[in-house]
Amino acid sequence: MPKSKYIFVTGGVTSSLGKGIIASSLGNLFQSRGYKTTIIKLDPYLNVDPGTLNPYEHGECYVTDDGSETDLDLGHYERFLNISTSHLNNVTSGAIYQSVIEKERNGDFLGKTIQVIPHITDEIKSRISSLEKNGKFKIIIVEIGGTVGDIESLPYIEALRQFKFERKKDVSVIHLTLLPYLSSSGELKTKPTQHSVKTMLQSGVQPDIIVCRSKISIDKKVKDKIALFCNVNKESVIEALDADTIYKVPLMMLEQKLDLVVANKLGFKKINNIDNGLWIKRVKRLNSSKKTFNVGIIGKYVELKDSYISIHESLVHASAFLGFQLNIRWIQSDKLNSQNVKRKIDNCDGVVVAPGFGSRGIDGKLIGVEHIRKNKIPFMGICLGMQVAVIEFARNVCKLKNAHSTEIDSKTKFPVIDIMANQHAVTKMGGTMRLGGYSCKLKLKTKAYEIYKKEIIFERHRHRYELNNDFRKILSENGMVFSGINDDLDLVEMIEIKNHPWFIGVQFHPEYKSKFVEPHPLFISFVESLNK
Ligand code: GLN
Repeated sequence: MPKSKYIFVTGGVTSSLGKGIIASSLGNLFQSRGYKTTIIKLDPYLNVDPGTLNPYEHGECYVTDDGSETDLDLGHYERFLNISTSHLNNVTSGAIYQSVIEKERNGDFLGKTIQVIPHITDEIKSRISSLEKNGKFKIIIVEIGGTVGDIESLPYIEALRQFKFERKKDVSVIHLTLLPYLSSSGELKTKPTQHSVKTMLQSGVQPDIIVCRSKISIDKKVKDKIALFCNVNKESVIEALDADTIYKVPLMMLEQKLDLVVANKLGFKKINNIDNGLWIKRVKRLNSSKKTFNVGIIGKYVELKDSYISIHESLVHASAFLGFQLNIRWIQSDKLNSQNVKRKIDNCDGVVVAPGFGSRGIDGKLIGVEHIRKNKIPFMGICLGMQVAVIEFARNVCKLKNAHSTEIDSKTKFPVIDIMANQHAVTKMGGTMRLGGYSCKLKLKTKAYEIYKKEIIFERHRHRYELNNDFRKILSENGMVFSGINDDLDLVEMIEIKNHPWFIGVQFHPEYKSKFVEPHPLFISFVESLNK
């Protein structure tokens, strides 16, 4: 079986330098050269998965087809590499410790003292190489979360040291750092990068390539200095300038020859030609049009854009496909009320109501959706967004006073959104939702069918509550159409309403499946509707 090659990506100096985007961009280049590539993210925190994390702490929780709740970087991996990831692509320290402790309780290590080295590091290494087992991937990129020097990431750096020692010829290490620019002296400073590489060396890892984030272009003198102090070849110092869109980063890395430098380190004798014409075409179309459309996103975490990153990116994908320029207006749901709704929403050509949990901001969302429905503004409601649309319709069209979701009002007389029968007994928070890919059958002659152009679709879910089937009759008698149904569970997955140009609610999350070169059909159709 041909062996995989591994590229580790570590980060130094500060967090938030965009390791995920660099890893994804490199993955994109190898994939475009015809090498099957995947990426795994190692997260140093102790949560078993990010599912229970507040978006304020860690941004969006990204869900894979197999129902894993993962780090938002997996979204970038899928969007840049046009692949599907799974539970194998995200590992946390919590999950590593949990499995080592479970093995200890099972008696698997009987008699031995369980230690970080070798037990935790062995577990990390086995998770990394598990992706190699089926022989599918030529390239496996391993992104180590956090910043070098953090106590938390030490076991990962140690696992990397061992891995590199064991698989010398198959491993290359990229270290991403920041070159601060001092405007007073007009200089880029290399010292933090030197220190960060020294920290790596203390752990026994010599990076092969240094990628430097920088505001301004890095001149040869600075590059030579970094090469000298960090023991790397001059061509292995790569600049990563700030980009106006993340989708330009693969092209910038291509220009910098990052993929060639890595391939050389990994012992490639020659490298395939690149086929990235479609990517380039889409990047060119992005922001190329003169006309701008305003899209409102109503949510409760809008001050932290990472909370809705997949929705934002899906809109970008559709706009690059159509050549439309979009301007996103973030609308904080708990600040939306009947006095300001007209002002906040009327300047939007279309509105997305975001997913969410709990009661904060629900009233604002209801007021927003009522205005959108009555004024025939294009609307996409995602998960909680769809649930709110159903509640609004039940209250204002079907006249079911105070209809609600039992998530918010457990005593409501009209529980139009309710927990599924088999979920009633669940009391734990982690891993207790309807998660991952489910099939959905679309009804002929609906907008949904017209958009997807097929009868069976697969979409990803992440929720506990559902449209209550007891209310299907009254809702449909009043003009709500159930355009997508999960036949196995008899659950409504998509709703739309008649006499409205574009009003669709989805219980699933289409934003998890949109890719830069393959935008999601719902987002394409929604963005297209802004132009009417
Ligand atoms: N809170 C709702 C539920 O659990 C919606 C979840 C979501 O929007 N992802 O059903």
